[in-house]
Amino acid sequence: MTATIDTAAAEALLIEERAKVVRQLRDLGANESGELTGSVDYGDAFADAGAVTAERTEVLGLVETHTIRLERIDRALSKIGEGTYGICETCGEEIEPDRIEYLPAARRCVRCKAAS
Ligand SMILES: [Zn+2]
Repeated sequence: MTATIDTAAAEALLIEERAKVVRQLRDLGANESGELTGSVDYGDAFADAGAVTAERTEVLGLVETHTIRLERIDRALSKIGEGTYGICETCGEEIEPDRIEYLPAARRCVRCKAAS
């Protein structure tokens, strides 16, 4: 397979993106596995329990979103290591370089993505 994708550039982007997501998770009081580390205080004796629950649910949702992003990034990074980066997981064709540039963690080509 001829490499038309700039893997080094994609890797740099992915590493940068990963650091950003890890930072966001830490800000939410979670670690890289998406587990809340308990460093965030969800309220005091005066807080409305309903509001605390709502906030916690929102935080958990955000944590989940970030964790999924992190998994995608890690998967893309390990593919770079394996030399399979930029190959569509569905059809095995090379993913469009434009798409990779826009979405470095893309796992499928535009055609397969559209077909799903
Ligand atoms: Zn495909």
